[in-house]
Amino acid sequence: MPIKKIPLRMCTGCGEMKQKKELVRVVKSPQGDISLDVTGRQNGRGAYVCKNPDCLKKARKTRRFERSFQCQIPAEVYDQMEQILVAAMAETQEMQQNG
Ligand SMILES: [Zn+2]
Repeated sequence: MPIKKIPLRMCTGCGEMKQKKELVRVVKSPQGDISLDVTGRQNGRGAYVCKNPDCLKKARKTRRFERSFQCQIPAEVYDQMEQILVAAMAETQEMQQNG
C-alpha cells in the first residue's frame, strides 16, 4: 500500500488542522440554506468544524460561518446543528465503549 497523504481541513471553530474524518462539513446549498452535511456529499459551499459542539459554539460566537458563507445564519439553524453534533458525539462514545 502506498502511503497516502492525508488531506487536512481547518476547523472553523478552533482553527486547528484536522483529518476530514474528525470534522463535519457545514454546507450552504445553492438555495442558500445552511445545514450540517453529515454525509459529506451535499452540493454547495462547505466549511468544516470539529465533531465537537464546543467548536460549533465558538464558530457561532465569532460569526465565522457567516463570514465564510457571506450570509446570515438563523439561531434555529445553529441550534439544530448543535443538537445533531451532540447526538453524533454520544453515538461515537457508545461505539467506542462497545468496540
Ligand atoms: Zn475545532
